[in-house]
Amino acid sequence: MITCRHITALILDYVIGELDAETALALKEHLRECPDCIAFLATYQKTIQATRSLRYESLPSRMRTRVRQFLQAQIRGSPRSG
Ligand SMILES: [Zn+2]
Repeated sequence: MITCRHITALILDYVIGELDAETALALKEHLRECPDCIAFLATYQKTIQATRSLRYESLPSRMRTRVRQFLQAQIRGSPRSG
């Protein structure tokens, strides 16, 4: 089962098309039900197109902050820690 926390870890592979088919399918299923992750994916793709950088480490610090904030919001927002 894919959660929002998984999305942030998998999204890069997904965007560059290196995710295996099974995981990509599970990710897409999550996206269908999660507007937050859809918005996150859109922002992520836009950033990658703008910067042409594919490594998390080389993303602009503003984007990295956003990734972290997104993660923390998801963790805080979920009743369970898993
Ligand atoms: Zn999500």
